[in-house]
Amino acid sequence: PRVIFSGIQPTGIPHLGNYLGAIQNWVRLQNRAAPDDTILYCIVGYHAITLPQDPAHLETERLNMLASLLACGINPKTSLLFNQDQVPEHAELAWILNCITPMGWLSRMTTWKSKLAVARNASSEDEINDSMLNLGLFAYPVLQAADIMIHKSTHVPVGEDQTQHLELAQDIARAFNHKYSDDLFPTPQQLSTPTKRVLSLRDPTQKMSKSAPSDKSRILITDDPAAITAKIRGAVTDSISEITYHPERRPGVSNLISILAACTSEEPNLDLGTIARSYQGKRIQDLKQDVADAVIAKIEPIRKEYEKIRAESAWLRDVSDAGDTLARERASRTMSEVKKTVGLARM
Ligand code: ATP
Ligand code: MG
Repeated sequence: PRVIFSGIQPTGIPHLGNYLGAIQNWVRLQNRAAPDDTILYCIVGYHAITLPQDPAHLETERLNMLASLLACGINPKTSLLFNQDQVPEHAELAWILNCITPMGWLSRMTTWKSKLAVARNASSEDEINDSMLNLGLFAYPVLQAADIMIHKSTHVPVGEDQTQHLELAQDIARAFNHKYSDDLFPTPQQLSTPTKRVLSLRDPTQKMSKSAPSDKSRILITDDPAAITAKIRGAVTDSISEITYHPERRPGVSNLISILAACTSEEPNLDLGTIARSYQGKRIQDLKQDVADAVIAKIEPIRKEYEKIRAESAWLRDVSDAGDTLARERASRTMSEVKKTVGLARM
C-alpha cells in the first residue's frame, strides 16, 4: 500500500503553478487511490514562519489555504487534510533528524544558497544581513523530511522546485535507517506532473511563486476571467513573432504552450511541439487568447467553489479539527517507535 503525502505553505492563495504542478495531481491521486492507500495533505504553517509573517495575516492565509484545497477538490473524507503546525510530532521528529543531518547537506540546497545571496546583496559591507537569515530557514528541508517521514510516506507529489529537497529527504531517511534500524522509514519517491514547473508571467527565467513581489507574475485560483485575460495578455515573451516550442531558448512562449496543453488535455505525453506547429502563421495574441480561455475554463469552477466554501467558517473549523486529530494519532505512533529506536523511550 502507498502512503501519499504532500504539503503547501499558507503564504497566499494558490496559483496556476501550485495547481498544475501539485494540487491537481493531489486530487487525481486521491480520486484514483486503491482502498489500502493512505492520502495525506497538509498546510505547513511551521514552514511559513521561516520568513517574517504578520500573525493576524497568517491566521487568515491558513483559512484561505484550507478553503482553496477543498475548492480544488480535496475531499476530507478520503484524504487526511490537516495543519502541520497542529501536530507537534512533526517538529519533534525534525529535531531528531537535525541531529543526524550534516550541515554540508543543507548548505548545498539551492533554496538556501539563493536566500544567502539575497541577504549578502542587501548588506552594504558585503556581510550577511543577519536579520534576514535564521536557523529555521536553514533547517527548512529537514522539517520537510520530518513531515514526510513521520507518516512513513512512500510517494510525494510535488513540483520540480522541490526535487532537491525530496532527494535530501531520501538521504535523511536512509541515514536514519542506516544509523538506527534497517527499515523504519521507506525511501519516499517524487511524483511529478507534465507541468512540473510553471514559469512567472513577468520573468520567465523564474518559476511562478506565491511570494514573488508582482501580482501580475501569477494567476490565482481565485482570479476572475477579466484578471486572467489581463495577466495572460501581459505575459512577457520575446521579440520573435513566430510561435515555436523551445523551453530553453524561448521560455516565455513555451510556458504559455505548456499551460495551454495542461488546461486543455488530460494526455500526459502530449507533444508540445505539435501544439506550437498548429499556430503556424498565427500571432502571439492568438495564442494568448486561447491560453486565457483555457485557463478561465479550468479556474472558473474552482473560484466559484472557493467563494462558497470560504464563507463556511464553522465547517472549515470542523474539517481542520478532525484532520488534525487523526494526523496526530498517526504521527504519535511513528514518534513512539522513533524514540524507542534512538534510546528515548518512556522510562
Ligand atoms: P512560496 O513562494 O511561498 O514558496 P510557492 O508558490 O513556491 O510559494 P509552495 O507552498 O512552496 O508554493 O509549494 C507548494 C507546491 O507547489 C509544491 O509542491 C511546489 O513544488 C509546487 N509549486 C510551486 N510553484 C510551482 C510552479 N511554479 N510550478 C509547478 N509547481 C509549483
Ligand atoms: Mg515554495
